[in-house]
Amino acid sequence: MSHLSELLGEVRERVRFCEICGNVSEQDRCTICRDPRRNQTLICVVEDAKDVAAIERTREFRGLYHVLGGSISPIAGIGPDDLRIAQLMQRLADGTVQEVILATNPNLEGEATATYLSRPLHTLQITVTRLASGLPVGGDLEYADEVTLGRAFEGRRSV
Ligand SMILES: [Zn+2]
Repeated sequence: MSHLSELLGEVRERVRFCEICGNVSEQDRCTICRDPRRNQTLICVVEDAKDVAAIERTREFRGLYHVLGGSISPIAGIGPDDLRIAQLMQRLADGTVQEVILATNPNLEGEATATYLSRPLHTLQITVTRLASGLPVGGDLEYADEVTLGRAFEGRRSV
């Protein structure tokens, strides 16, 4: 037990948050922010560090991230000021970033957060995109709920 608590203490000491993007990191800046090969003109905004890990697993995205630390939720008492929105605006100020991808969760709070963010973002010369919500791979059209199916139509693309 004492060894375990020692180990946990060590983890707590070592793991902190990246000063740029808010991702978990062992250093002041996370491995993604330190990687010069990442596309510096692209920022993917997520709610949680776990979302960064999930997107990294797809190997589809080569840009940078910004972790908000949650989503706007009046019920939980979380407002815009509780999220890392000011830090995001600061990162966009020098004009390097050309596109912001809003990858908040496809639920009520995530949608509210994306809508809230899109307003100030549109005043900048930046392309703002939202992840397409599609149908689950391996799923059956007839079993998809109407919101998901509706979104899949909205997010359709030419083939
Ligand atoms: Zn980082």
